Amino acid sequence: MISISEAFKLIQQTVKPMPIESVTLADSVDRVLAADVCSDVDSPPHDKSVMDGYAVMSQDIAEGRREFEVVETIAAGAWPRKKLTTGRVARIMTGAPMPPGADAVVMIEQTESKEVDGRSIVTLQVEELKAGKHMMPKASNISVGQTVFSTGHQIRATDIGLLAETGAAAIQVFGNPEIAVLPTGDELVRCDEKPNQGLIRNSNGPMLVAMARSLGLQVQDLGIGRDNESELTRLISNGLESEVLLLSGGVSMGEFDLVPPILAKAGVEQVFHKVAVKPGKPIWFGVLDRPDRTTYVFGLPGNPVSSLVGFHLFVRTALRMMTGHKSIEPSSVVAELSLAHEARGDRPTYWPGRWVQDESAQRKFEPLQWQGSSDLTTLGQAEALAYFSAGTKTHPAGETVRVFPL
Ligand code: AMP
Ligand code: MG
Repeated sequence: MISISEAFKLIQQTVKPMPIESVTLADSVDRVLAADVCSDVDSPPHDKSVMDGYAVMSQDIAEGRREFEVVETIAAGAWPRKKLTTGRVARIMTGAPMPPGADAVVMIEQTESKEVDGRSIVTLQVEELKAGKHMMPKASNISVGQTVFSTGHQIRATDIGLLAETGAAAIQVFGNPEIAVLPTGDELVRCDEKPNQGLIRNSNGPMLVAMARSLGLQVQDLGIGRDNESELTRLISNGLESEVLLLSGGVSMGEFDLVPPILAKAGVEQVFHKVAVKPGKPIWFGVLDRPDRTTYVFGLPGNPVSSLVGFHLFVRTALRMMTGHKSIEPSSVVAELSLAHEARGDRPTYWPGRWVQDESAQRKFEPLQWQGSSDLTTLGQAEALAYFSAGTKTHPAGETVRVFPL
């Protein structure tokens, strides 16, 4: 049996990022950049007005002039035709390029215009006007060639506008693995069936499929595998076509725990079996290397909370490595316990709990009354898992613990 940190280390030593592929901007959300994205334009592309108003030479205002001749109107998308000279201004719209000579904008609300002998005249009602007022210089956001996002960045929906602006129509990202999910056990029936005597519904299959999908990955649902060597062998060999095979059940020491020997026969090399963690001790991890591709295999324990925690800690770490993430291990925060917690046992434990607020609105972690690795009911109320080290000990309220959001 190895420690949790040894398991993380072995996963990091074994798992390689997926090959790089190109996706369209629209398909890039949640993917991780495999190359820096650089802008092919300046932003803004020209000195531009950020107000509807009049583009002026601030020097004119400083010298006391308030009445001007309007020489042209510049709309957004148009290009100025005239250079400003003393006593002349241009009507300008938000986003439009500043005419040469102009260095500030007076907003339309501070102006009054009239026609005199067929000429358009405007009075600018301002006390003073600093150069640069209500305009943005060319390239003040980004210059051509500047890095917008670096390799390893996971693209968010809110990043898409900037990527579009800077011309990133095709984006280099790390590939997305396909994950095959195979829960095993003679006692399992589908969730749309009523279990007969001695049987239970397959919780892990749908849960693992959903957890993998929530990471944006493609899933191959292999249905339920029976504890039968030839059937499991066939299903496992199907699952080994995917980049990741997730099994649940059949990895403990029971008479019908057939998964590790079948994996060994299929050529999957064991990296570890059993981690000192509660829940989830029997977890199995291995790799099948072939000339053209690699498949990583996780055998998660059958108890649903063990499967859930095993996925959250170890499978997710492997998937983040495969998809090119910079930070690999599960993220956590430090929080105070709102209640005392009795820790028991010889293995470090991830204990479910929820967030509560004390009188001063400080967020604290409340450990829930959890019955152990088969108790998914309590997980239904849980928002996070708190880490408690091995050993029998009372952790008083107010003690700080490391908390892993679910
Ligand atoms: P195993 O790891 O196969 O020994 O299973 C451990 C426990 O988890 C047993 O009580 C199983 O009935 C239960 N179990 C196994 N697979 C599943 C599953 N897919 N959904 C719900 N419970 C399961
Ligand atoms: Mg079983």
